[in-house]
Order: sequence, then structure tokens, then C-alpha cells
Amino acid sequence: MSNFIISLDSGTTSARAVLFETTGEVHAIEQKEFTQIYPESGWVEHDPLEILKAQTDVLHSLLENTNHPILALGITNQRETTVVWDRETGKPIYHAIVWQDKRTAETCQELKASGLSDYCKKATGLVLDPYFSGTKIAWILDHVAGARERAERGELCFGTIDTWLLWNLTDGRVHATDPSNASRTLLYNIEKMDWDEHMLDALKVPKAILPEVKESASVFGTYKDIPIAAMMGDQQSALFGQTCFTPGTAKNTYGTGCFMLMNTGSAIPATPSGLLNTVAWQIGGETTYALEGSVFVAGAAIQWLRDGLKLIESSEVSEEISQRESDDHPDSQVVVVPAFAGLGTPYWDMDARGAVLGLTRDSGADAIIRAALESLAFQSMDVLKAMQEDSGISLFTLQVDGGASANNYLMQFQSDLLGVNIERPKSVESTAAGVALMAAVTMGEKVLSELKCTREIDVVFSPEKSVDWREKKAALWNDAVNRVRTNAV
Ligand code: ADP
Repeated sequence: MSNFIISLDSGTTSARAVLFETTGEVHAIEQKEFTQIYPESGWVEHDPLEILKAQTDVLHSLLENTNHPILALGITNQRETTVVWDRETGKPIYHAIVWQDKRTAETCQELKASGLSDYCKKATGLVLDPYFSGTKIAWILDHVAGARERAERGELCFGTIDTWLLWNLTDGRVHATDPSNASRTLLYNIEKMDWDEHMLDALKVPKAILPEVKESASVFGTYKDIPIAAMMGDQQSALFGQTCFTPGTAKNTYGTGCFMLMNTGSAIPATPSGLLNTVAWQIGGETTYALEGSVFVAGAAIQWLRDGLKLIESSEVSEEISQRESDDHPDSQVVVVPAFAGLGTPYWDMDARGAVLGLTRDSGADAIIRAALESLAFQSMDVLKAMQEDSGISLFTLQVDGGASANNYLMQFQSDLLGVNIERPKSVESTAAGVALMAAVTMGEKVLSELKCTREIDVVFSPEKSVDWREKKAALWNDAVNRVRTNAV
């Protein structure tokens, strides 16, 4: 029996194929970038055919360069990005509208004004925002001549990128998705685990266009006789790849922004803090849910130090500079609030702007560098606190990944601030690993309890500071945030 699995990791800027052994070991990676299309301000599109070509190119080069038989394929993907194509010819009727695209902002405002928000949150776990697929589908149907009538007649298919790839890899035989992707469309009822008629009506999306929703761990179809044995959205796949299988486990990806997901088990907690409820995955008839929150400006604050202020030559040096600033130094009072485009969870203050506070005559560039780096941890603390409050579940350990998780100062500071252990894995391929490991589960090669062993930890950061220190730091940050807020109560 082969124990090699290929993960197709279809990201926002590139298509990747990663060859894994079911031990979790990475054997080969192929990657190809594709074009970002910006037709108007706030609009972002991809060419679905270019994505397909990039994805099949990297898959073929992995297949050509390996002698191992492949047990299964898994697909993980940029979420929410919307494709509509002709069921007969397989041709897209419009470019893919990417998750970042804001063209349906006005439609979302109208839907909010119509009083849909509460129902939407309860049914789908989401807020009415152009980010999600629903209003993007309606936009395509309303702007491509004849599309709406054709959709009603069942002549068109909608899919997120997982569904688009699956359809093509199976030569148009399978039109399906998994609940982690379906739960990002605004159209899927995460309690009933089915498409939601009321949301379909409100968003004017014909049911005939929708894919079948199958469990994340199922055989969706085959490609060259290889089973396509798992599909999951990228953030959920990273949660799985980080082996966050029990309620209270969470992962934080420190990239340009931060993406945090916490496993809430079979519960869908109410979220007064404005977090999202989402399906993490569905395996063996059991659905696991997650809370999701994000920080808009994380690694971007380090880029600002580098490219805007020109205080550092590279992101990496922020570690050494921060390390050498001692904690009892007056500069440790300096706080940077990088609210460049407002504050997200849990403040939701779009008019707030950034600030540097606590400067003295002695404060130099290093103090600002350190404070900017620490702002990634403070903002993550705010989101994680909101998650714990909303779910009633205490954070167990935090798993980390993403570019800035390489920064040891940041990770130690985060652990001190939260008072929890932080585990940084050796492999940074959590997203690709998640769906590969899930495919191994589908194929009966692994059970969940075994998967923990497939993940090798690089470093565990444990809290070294007192509760008193933690509270003082949190108070310093809270005070700084309150000064920039325009909606403080
Ligand atoms: P994305 O997937 O969002 O492009 P990555 O996971 O590749 O992001 O991480 C890149 C981001 O992380 C950049 O904003 C960069 O400034 C920041 N970053 C990378 N390495 C470090 C580091 N050692 N210390 C702090 N920030 C870092």
C-alpha cells in the first residue's frame, strides 16, 4: 500500500502541490504563481483557467518526478473566491471574483438595512460582508448577459476554487464542495448543515447553481485513478494540520495579517465580540466548528518599519533589536497601535487610526521597532480573549505558523502575555499538511489520535513572566487602544 499523498494547495497568489508521506514528512513541493487582475479600484479577479493550468502543471510535475504510487489527493484552497461556469462546456462565464474584492459592498449594506444581519449570523455564522461568496455570485448573474435565466434553468455551476478544481480534475463528473468551504458562502446553514433557503432567496441565488456538499473527509472523485479524498478551506486545513482536534485548541497564523481559529467542538457559541462561526470540518458524520477572528495589520506593521519608516533593513532584524531592549527600561512603556485602517475584533472601530504612545526623550528607533513587533502579540491577545469569552472555553495551547512566527522574541512575548504554551512546528506547511492528513484518514491509513505524532515541534515557548507582569502589559495596551478609539464607551 502506498503511503504518499499529494496536497493541492491553491492559494491567492500561487498554486502549489506538496508531496507528503502519511508520516507528515514533506518530500517535494512545486509552486507556480498566477496573475492578479485589478480591473477597478477595490476589485480583484483571477482567471479560473489560469489557476487550473497552474494547479495541474504543478501536480503533473510532482507526478512525473516521483516513483511512488500516490494513495490520494487532497485539495485546500483560498476561500470564498467565486467561479461560475457553463455546465455543458465547462467554460467560466466571468473571471473568478476574489475574496478581497469589495464590489458588492453596497449590496451588503442594503441587505443589512433590510434587517437580515441577525438571521444571517445565526444561520451562517457570518456577517454580511462582500468578503463572502454569496453576493459575488449574484453580481455575476446580474452582470453577464442571460446568466440569471441560465442559472435558473440549471445550465450554470457555481463553485469556490475547491469545487472548480474538482470539477475539472474529474472531467466535469463531480460538482461538489465540503462544509468548510460551503460555510464561507453566506448561503450555508451551519446548524442544519444544508443550503439555507431564506439566504438563497435574500441574496437571489438560484439553488440549481449550487454544488453538492459532501463531508470534508470523503472520496469526492478520482483523477487518473487516484482518489480525491479530502477537501477543506485553507484556514481550516491549517487548523487540522496543526492537529487542533479538541475544543480549546487554536492556531494563529502570523502573516501580513493574523488568522486565528479556535476549535469549539460540536458547539456554535454566540459571538457578542463579532467573531465568525465557521465549520472546521466534517468527518464520519461529525461536524467540528471553529471560531474565527483576524488581525488586519500584523506582519504589515513590520513591513511599515522596513519600507515606510526605513528603520530596519529586513523583518528578521526586529527580533535581535527587540531582544536587546531590557524590560525595566523606560522604553518598555512605548506602545504602537497599528490601526492603519481601523480596529477589528473586538473593537470594530473603522475610524480609529494608528498611534505611538509612551515616548520619552530617551526613546529611540529601537523602542518603536520593539513596540511594533509587540503589537502583533497584543492584537492576537485581544482576539484570543474574545474567543475565550465567547466560547467559554479556556485556551489550551496556541499553535503558530506564518512568516512572523519565526520571530523568537515575538513568540516568547506572546506566550508571556497569554500565559499559555506556544508550540511552533518544524514544518511550516500546516495548510497543505492538513488536507493531506485528512485524505489519509479518509483512506483508512490514519486515525485522528495517530496524527498528533506526525507533527514535529520545533520549539515550545512557555510563559516566564508573572501574572502581575501580564496584567500590567495588558493594561498598558488597553490604555493605548482606548486613546485611539473613536467609539470607546
Ligand atoms: P503572507 O502569507 O500574508 O504573505 P507570510 O506568512 O509569508 O505572509 O509572512 C510574511 C509577513 O511576516 C511579512 O509581513 C513580514 O514582514 C513578516 N515577517 C516575516 N519574517 C518575520 C520576522 N522574522 N519577524 C517579524 N516579522 C516577520
